[in-house]
Amino acid sequence: MDTIIGLEIHLQLKTESKMFCSCSSQYFEKEPNTLTCPKCLGLPGALPVPNKHALELCILMGLATNCTIAKHIKFDRKHYFYPDLPKGYQISQYDEPLCNNGTVNIKLPDGSTSTVLIERIHQEEDVAKTFHLKDGTTGADYTLVDYNKSGVPLIEIVTKPCIKSAQEAKLYATKIRQIARYLGISDADMEKGQMRCEPNISIQETGKWQMVDNKIKPIGDYKLNPKTEVKNIGSISAVEKAIEYEVKRMTDDLQAGKKLTQQTRGWNAEKGITEFQRSKESAEDYRYFREPDIPIINVSDQDIANISTKLVELPDAKAERYKNDFGLQDYDIEVLTASRDIAEYFEKAFDLSGDAKSTANWITGIIFSHLNKNGIEINDVSIKPEDLAILTKSVNTKAITTNKAKEILLNCLSNDKSVDISSEIEKAQSSAVSDDGALLNMVKQALSENEKAVTDYKSGKTAVIGFLVGAVMKLSKGNADPNKVKDLLEKELGK
Ligand SMILES: [Zn+2]
Repeated sequence: MDTIIGLEIHLQLKTESKMFCSCSSQYFEKEPNTLTCPKCLGLPGALPVPNKHALELCILMGLATNCTIAKHIKFDRKHYFYPDLPKGYQISQYDEPLCNNGTVNIKLPDGSTSTVLIERIHQEEDVAKTFHLKDGTTGADYTLVDYNKSGVPLIEIVTKPCIKSAQEAKLYATKIRQIARYLGISDADMEKGQMRCEPNISIQETGKWQMVDNKIKPIGDYKLNPKTEVKNIGSISAVEKAIEYEVKRMTDDLQAGKKLTQQTRGWNAEKGITEFQRSKESAEDYRYFREPDIPIINVSDQDIANISTKLVELPDAKAERYKNDFGLQDYDIEVLTASRDIAEYFEKAFDLSGDAKSTANWITGIIFSHLNKNGIEINDVSIKPEDLAILTKSVNTKAITTNKAKEILLNCLSNDKSVDISSEIEKAQSSAVSDDGALLNMVKQALSENEKAVTDYKSGKTAVIGFLVGAVMKLSKGNADPNKVKDLLEKELGK
């Protein structure tokens, strides 16, 4: 059996106002129904006016994913009945999406690259939020509606049915989130509903189908299995789990001789299962027609050129540059480019220290484990890129040892307040064993306490010097310079 997956991702755009009115789109944790007007309440006669900034952000996403941008923008009405949709239709784009035929590269765990084909990115508006409740006294069901979210700008990114596994779908969704955050077009926080993923999945017998113009076609008299679409997915890891569950469910049903039907199912995160919601509507059910209240908007080459200036260096290009210019390892590159904030932190610290590898090591090692342990972001740590650069340079000029730098870094990270790294380094230097007499005494003590190592060394096992350096470092409580200790030991041992 082959698994064939297409993914629809909705992203809420980071604009000040809503898609077709001037109400604020910052609805998170606001008093219900306080950000509304006749337009987003769907009152008769209210005329929608498209949000230019939202359209620019949609185009920006299209450019970042190698799409062709349409020469004009046309909106359509998508009709369906539900209390969260006050007009009875959603203003969306049907047959002429703003962005077409894009690509996104994802890196698979085996190191190979897979290209996910984007069919379209279109502009639309979000619906209101409904709360289904039960009356405490009568037990009757009722629904409350909050229209603050009604009309918030959304883009929908639709792939071709080209994704072959749950893992690939997860990696693709992660990449889309990463690109959106790099561009600053959306925070793409799935917990806040700013990013929603809806995979559609089908399983087909290997060798019985083929892809023709990016559509699944049967070979011979094979009858294609219908697909299911999964909704309500609240995290990227759940995208993978929901697909795995669906593939197994459909495979089991087929093996049990059941006939599959086209369905829309919901992901139940608590139970880790998908549940039947409804038989899937087809496009005809939505009775799409052109939105007559919004004139066609032309997109000129100059418009595209202006929007292009807002493109930033994207994760793939950054990764390539880190590899070629700095010779960093794949793991380090992945960590450093995971978010724009981390990449910018790294680049700033590198600019000041001139040492990419050490800077990368500090960030991907100690700093990153601190972030993970405390669930915080890079911009929340007390060590700023400037501090890290000073620390890196101090190690490189041998002003302090690597061990001492590590200690200072850990100390500063555990301190929430901003730190004066230079004074920490000065303190470390003053407590360092720089007095040659004191250090020589420690070397002598270490040699007398480790007679076997001395004998080994003299019999030619010179590697044992590392052990002796360690012994002296211990006596100095980590305050000695290991290179100096090694020199002194070798001198004493008569090398
Ligand atoms: Zn409004």
